[in-house]
Amino acid sequence: MDFELTKDQIAIRDAVADLCARYPEDYWRNIDATRTYPQEFVEALTEAGWLSILVPEEFGGGGLGIVEAALVLETINRSGCSSVAAHAQMYTMGTVLRHGTDEQKQRFLPRIARGELRLQAFGVTEPDAGTDTTRIRTTAVRDGDHYVVNGGKIFTSRFQHSDLMLLLVRTTPYEEVEKKSDGISVLLVDLREAGDSIEVRPIDTMVAHETNQLFFDDLRVPAENLVGVEGKGFRCILSGMNAERILVASEVLGDGFWFVEKASEYATKREVFGRPIGQNQGIQFPIAQAYAQLEAASLLRWKGAAKFDAGEQPGMEANAAKLLASQATFAAANAAMDTFGGYGLTVEYGIERKFREARLPMVAPISNNLVLAYLGQNVLGMPKSY
Ligand SMILES: Cc1cc2nc3c(=O)[nH]c(=O)nc-3n(C[C@H](O)[C@H](O)[C@H](O)COP(=O)(O)OP(=O)(O)OC[C@H]3O[C@@H](n4cnc5c(N)ncnc54)[C@H](O)[C@@H]3O)c2cc1C
Repeated sequence: MDFELTKDQIAIRDAVADLCARYPEDYWRNIDATRTYPQEFVEALTEAGWLSILVPEEFGGGGLGIVEAALVLETINRSGCSSVAAHAQMYTMGTVLRHGTDEQKQRFLPRIARGELRLQAFGVTEPDAGTDTTRIRTTAVRDGDHYVVNGGKIFTSRFQHSDLMLLLVRTTPYEEVEKKSDGISVLLVDLREAGDSIEVRPIDTMVAHETNQLFFDDLRVPAENLVGVEGKGFRCILSGMNAERILVASEVLGDGFWFVEKASEYATKREVFGRPIGQNQGIQFPIAQAYAQLEAASLLRWKGAAKFDAGEQPGMEANAAKLLASQATFAAANAAMDTFGGYGLTVEYGIERKFREARLPMVAPISNNLVLAYLGQNVLGMPKSY
């Protein structure tokens, strides 16, 4: 076991932190207030090559592993920035990489690596299916050399900032398959060619995170854009889940450490009753408790990342790390709120913004209940609730 970062990993962390220092709190406060997309920040990450580090070198990417990608995302959020606007560009291409044909990889990956194509929209969730993905009703019917897609998605994030969207559709209705996860397929939709066959309705949320409801009306997708085998798309999606959970856990941990650092610093400086508030155990201990929880979640995340890079599928570690990271970060957010007193609620200090953002990972990309169901049923062998 080796718990130290290598020299190269430390260099990655420091370079990302340097880039993030150019986007201080007032930049993010403005993004939050105007509910806009951090275009300059995402462009800077793209230009520096950080969003393509998981693309293999043969396709023009960095050819690095999940450990390094986790480090990049954690550092972004630990610096007070927000990686949610850009993280999907890093890992959504994994479905094409693992399941695409050689032709698809050559067509898309080098341009994704160069940042010329943005693949950061991923349409899975539907209003009537919710977490039960096998119940999706968006259909794709083969018509010559195209699929014709009808239906709709909800909570499709970053649609307006994507050239391509990975879309989960039913090519065989639920009622006609023996196994409920069969009959689902993955299409790579070129949004630049979609015209008015996709209606987009932005959804307002408590965080500056562009997400949308989509309606498909005879959207024509070339059959050559089917990723993987028709009817076996559910498996393609599942194979990317562990990577996604490790990476989401990492950015969430970054937020958690940011809260702990801000709270410790403020608790040491702020004097009330003639002494620093951090001298009071009611302030000091919740911060220390959250810190211990973050460090524990971080270790599980690194174990998952190391196993993933060694070619294993670390379902337990990836899921448990996402669960624990989201809980530890929310504990850190709450401790920071208590520490800052009334100032925690003011917009100026940034605590309330990150506090709102810290609630999201308990729900998305997968809710913590479903993570617990995974652990209870798939790891511990208890009966299934669905
Ligand atoms: C800001 C934001 C961005 C998002 N971005 C995307 C995106 O880009 N692409 C995308 O496809 N989706 C996206 N989502 C959707 C997100 O993944 C879902 O909201 C999430 O998976 C939960 O689904 P749901 O909202 O339909 O909840 P539901 O499935 O309706 O569940 C509601 C509650 O019931 C619980 N529950 C349901 N079944 C069980 C059970 N068997 N046992 C215990 N508890 C259960 C759930 O855990 C949850 O707490 C986003 C959501 C948000 C809020």
